[in-house]
Amino acid sequence: MTTRNDQLLTEGATSERMKRVRRRDTGPELQVRKIARSLGLAYRIRNPDLPGSPDLANRSKKWAIFVNGCFWHGHHQCRRAKLPERNSGYWQAKISRNRIRDKVATEALEAAGYTVVVVWECELREPLIVRTRIKDLVA
Ligand SMILES: [Zn+2]
Repeated sequence: MTTRNDQLLTEGATSERMKRVRRRDTGPELQVRKIARSLGLAYRIRNPDLPGSPDLANRSKKWAIFVNGCFWHGHHQCRRAKLPERNSGYWQAKISRNRIRDKVATEALEAAGYTVVVVWECELREPLIVRTRIKDLVA
């Protein structure tokens, strides 16, 4: 299980891990955390023990938020999700596997009583709209 303990590893293994952590802690995820904080929501980040490892989750309130990159998660009809023309078969298969994995995770969470919110990277151009949606669904 990878948890926030990852960040507490001793030197040596640390730098590679930290690089990865930092990379993950940028951009869209940070924006959504900021929105969640502005709504006064309590949450944990990552959550590898929950289906699909939601980026933010609250177990007692039973909600989970995924922050999805449009390309990797295959945002439907989004220009950021346009596949490269080279190796399009490869990309199609890969993205389609990711979409299936996302769907399975969402279904598992919902079956466990969770409210699941997906925030697409491109939606964060309008953070107030995202904020309202999160507020309506989980706050
Ligand atoms: Zn998108």
